[in-house]
Amino acid sequence: MTSSSQAHTGQTPAPSAEAEALHRALFTLDSHIDIPWPDRGDAFEDTDARRVDLPKMQKGGMSAGCFVAYIAQAKVDAEGHAQAQAQCLAMLDVINGMQGSQNGVTARVCSTVAEIEAAYKSGVLVVIPAVENGYAMGDDPAVLAQFRAKGARYVTLTHNGHNALADAAVHRPSLGDKPENHGGLSALGREAVRHMNHLGLLIDVSHASKKTMLQAVAASAVPVVASHSCVRALCDHPRNLDDEQLDALKASGGVIQITAMPAFLKPRDGEAPRSAGVADFVDHIDYVVRRIGVEHVGISSDFDGGGALADWQNATQGVNLTAELLRRGYDRSEIAAFWGGNFMRLLGQAEAVAEQTGTIG
Ligand SMILES: [Zn+2]
Repeated sequence: MTSSSQAHTGQTPAPSAEAEALHRALFTLDSHIDIPWPDRGDAFEDTDARRVDLPKMQKGGMSAGCFVAYIAQAKVDAEGHAQAQAQCLAMLDVINGMQGSQNGVTARVCSTVAEIEAAYKSGVLVVIPAVENGYAMGDDPAVLAQFRAKGARYVTLTHNGHNALADAAVHRPSLGDKPENHGGLSALGREAVRHMNHLGLLIDVSHASKKTMLQAVAASAVPVVASHSCVRALCDHPRNLDDEQLDALKASGGVIQITAMPAFLKPRDGEAPRSAGVADFVDHIDYVVRRIGVEHVGISSDFDGGGALADWQNATQGVNLTAELLRRGYDRSEIAAFWGGNFMRLLGQAEAVAEQTGTIG
């Protein structure tokens, strides 16, 4: 948690009636949300302990969220791998429990574009499972099929710290990391990418090193996603993508989902506490649009994983982002692309490749 106590320093105007109406009319997908662990069974409660729960999504006009089984990086050995795999499967089971009707909210776990569209059309909140950190598959790509069987739609190749698949953007000397362990993807990582393509799992390059990211773009038959990253030209943080990486996304058809992490959005201003708002967030969207186009950028919060802005504190406040996008002059179809259209295009491409080369279901 970085910013629950952050002061509201921006001059954010209240969203217009137009913004409210548009926000509620659009399919709105947040591509990266953590869940509490251990589970507290509170996904259907409107609780101050979560920035995203299902009642807040409904209240805030959110349609869909990718909920991640996040596995912290630990030792790359058999014991660490076994623990990571067991925790990941248990977390995916909890995410799969986020469905049904309680407290006036109805949600459904969806793992294909058709399922997502059907749930959205019937007014049901959409829960999309995902896995954050390829460490969870250890050294056995066959485990990826178990993640897919539990509905997962993407796997983030690394977290902070290198794993058996790839080098991360941030290395962890305390875990024995050199600046680079593999020079990008390992042979196992390349095998994992092939399996993910066959299974319909998107390859998430957030947290990956630059070499890993560029190699994944080249190795994958499906465009990659950065599920929660920002623009390095605007904020020089290793978790962000530089211009060469953005250009590689454009050439391959991939998408960067800008995220609500103040440390990735704004360079620190002296000793002042870091604060960022939706205006800073949309600066990053503007940059990506100018450099590589509207169809390559989307939206994520990283809520409950450290993300939060002064004026986007939880899932009830997404309308502030829609209002800022309108103020910048984006039209309805562009805002719809940012709020989920682009991400859904990638899911559809992943399904098409899986149907040709492997299995999906
Ligand atoms: Zn993350």
